[in-house]
Amino acid sequence: MKSTAALLTATGSEFTLAEIDIDGPAAGEVLVQIAAAGLCHTDLAARDGVLPIAFPGVVGHEGAGTVIAVGDGVTKVAPGDRVSLTFNSCGTCATCTSGRQSYCENFLALNYGGVRADGSRPLSGADGPVSGMFFGQSSFATVALANERNTVKVDSDIPFELLAPLGCGIQTGVGAVTRSLAAEKGSTIAIVGGGSVGLSAVMGAVLQECAEIIVVELTQARRELALELGATHALDPRDGDVAERIRQIVPGGVNYVVDTTGIPSVIEGLIPAVAVRAVIGLIGVPSDPTAAVGYNIIAGLTRGLTITGIIEGDSVPDDFIPELVEHYRAGRLPLDKLVKTYPFTAINTAVADQHDGLTVKPVLTFEG
Ligand SMILES: [Zn+2]
Ligand SMILES: [Zn+2]
Repeated sequence: MKSTAALLTATGSEFTLAEIDIDGPAAGEVLVQIAAAGLCHTDLAARDGVLPIAFPGVVGHEGAGTVIAVGDGVTKVAPGDRVSLTFNSCGTCATCTSGRQSYCENFLALNYGGVRADGSRPLSGADGPVSGMFFGQSSFATVALANERNTVKVDSDIPFELLAPLGCGIQTGVGAVTRSLAAEKGSTIAIVGGGSVGLSAVMGAVLQECAEIIVVELTQARRELALELGATHALDPRDGDVAERIRQIVPGGVNYVVDTTGIPSVIEGLIPAVAVRAVIGLIGVPSDPTAAVGYNIIAGLTRGLTITGIIEGDSVPDDFIPELVEHYRAGRLPLDKLVKTYPFTAINTAVADQHDGLTVKPVLTFEG
């Protein structure tokens, strides 16, 4: 079958639209006509070589659309179903079977490997094989091949451009607070970075009824949006020591921190702002793969601190994505305030606008 895909041809390249061939669904696979696909920083990390993928390759991991065909053994979805595509997992390792599939022991191979689990390549272009199966979908394409496990059926008529980003960025931010940290009602939280994940964490903190929700963000428009979404304070880090200012708001220190920046000095700067027994959740991926955070172990011991990594908000997508859809429909998750749509053909403009801070969550739309 033919598909028009946004190809990455070399490290740091722009996206180039090209026609490629895509296999029909093998056993356990789902072929999807993509209607919308969100742009997430992880796509650009792959472009820039921070996450090694083979070139040419197709990324995109927040796809939503309609099932065209299913392979043998697929029972969860059928042709015509509206679906959201999310991260892939094996379903058989110890973390998957314990309901923590975002930490699947085979996560790297299944989401960044570029090939099917059996090593075959479902995508090919004019010059030979094309790396695919990015997050088990490679959805920057008119047609994408996913797996039953990372395909979530959504019965609601929520627009595709709002459904798409639930598959990664929104579920990561909301889930970080509601699931990974499970912040208690009345607790206090600082969220560093007001991009789509940080602002989703704000929405998660509102859902959890946190008493103080403090956002730290450089861009004024994003600080304003954070307040509109329910943050109680929005700090510009250039206005003075962030930890001190957080202590002025919450003298005992905050119970939780969510970092979306991945910048070690920023994370270290937050440690003096936390309460005893606080939990610091790390979401941001550092641009330097050897990055480390300095941490006084005795202070950490005596104050009972926890520093934890968070992947995909500890989501179990079959349960959590429909739950997020329900929150949106009930007016509790105004994710439309984060989304701006671009035609698929304008993908490079979407990338530039996100880079320049003009758009929080670009979502590409495909003509039906
Ligand atoms: Zn697994
Ligand atoms: Zn993502």
